[in-house]
Amino acid sequence: MLLKHLPDNSLSAPWAESDKIALLDLSEKKLEECIKSLDSAPYRYNQIINWLYRKDVLDFAFMTDISKDTKNHFAQFCTPSSRLKRLEVVTDNDGTVKILWGLKDGLTVESVLIDEGERLTLCLSTQVGCRMGCRFCRTGSMGLIRNLSQGEIVCQIIESRRLLENPKKLTNLVLMGMGEPLDNPDNTFGSLSFITNPKFMAFNQRRVTLSTVGVIPQLEKLSQAFKSQSFSLTISLGSAVDSVRSQIMPSNRAWPVDDLKKLLERFPLRPGWRFTFSYVMLEGVNDSKKQALALVKFLAHIKSKVNLIPFNPWPGAPFTRPKAESVLSFQKVLTDSNISTFIRRTNGLDSNAACGLLVAKNQDRQNSSPTPPSQPFENPSDSPALPDSQGY
Ligand code: SF4
Repeated sequence: MLLKHLPDNSLSAPWAESDKIALLDLSEKKLEECIKSLDSAPYRYNQIINWLYRKDVLDFAFMTDISKDTKNHFAQFCTPSSRLKRLEVVTDNDGTVKILWGLKDGLTVESVLIDEGERLTLCLSTQVGCRMGCRFCRTGSMGLIRNLSQGEIVCQIIESRRLLENPKKLTNLVLMGMGEPLDNPDNTFGSLSFITNPKFMAFNQRRVTLSTVGVIPQLEKLSQAFKSQSFSLTISLGSAVDSVRSQIMPSNRAWPVDDLKKLLERFPLRPGWRFTFSYVMLEGVNDSKKQALALVKFLAHIKSKVNLIPFNPWPGAPFTRPKAESVLSFQKVLTDSNISTFIRRTNGLDSNAACGLLVAKNQDRQNSSPTPPSQPFENPSDSPALPDSQGY
């Protein structure tokens, strides 16, 4: 069994009191300074980060090798409390587990656990909603409500591991849930610095994947720092034809497919690494031979593999799933050009189209969202400043 018996939906620890320092929101440097300022014992810093980031303990009371006096002293000034409240856990027929988290301000996000036998992957959210407005994605129709904090991103891992029979089984992470990670770069990179750091969560860098629509200014920065900022990259492409991509992914109007191609061609990938391109297939929109040939041309000088994801319709979705023959023909055009191409099952891992469904269901139940969202990308005047955002 993947999950422990789940007795209730209560918080694992109380919300952080607002006047206390929330340890999980601090950068590595600030965390060290904070702990050392409260206790000069040289081992204290390692002891506390070990409880937080490796043993998933978010309550001083359960840090059993720290004296009561020391714990009380820390608890006066700071808190390791969870930033999430588990509201709902739903297991699909294929074993995929969707978890709905409540945030302190009443909003909700979700994470998805995907058990593929030899590996267990957690799909993380980085924003509440998303302003990229990809038309095949349920989250995209919500608009952006707010960014998640670093602690809220990291806590999805900690709290999910606490649900597992065997927390060590969680080996892979994908930042592919609600939100565009590169639209929340500070908190995304802040959390990644704990996730892949051997002193903290120590996830294998190749098993951590950031998925993006191709936010070019952030990818440019990343290309300069990629040797130190090491994780895998998935590009959500949708189409290699500019006009079609703009129709289904409005972000393409700010960051066109040709500019993306040029950037990826010169991106300094590590030896042996390659980009993954996810391509959600929509019947009659991007599943033709012409589209496949455009994709072959796009990938000509880019180290890549392609995941074809037949669209999984959600209520009210403007697209339908392509026929199996179209998907196979599309794949053949790519494989005939020596491009590694896989047809993926449509589950929480493979498709942003599947993310946001639990949150949407919860919103429907509540019949309103507590904070009005900014509009998706089509209406940029309501969105926070985006570089190159003219024309929306
Ligand atoms: S696919 Fe990703 S980037 Fe696009 S709208 Fe959905 S969450 Fe946002």
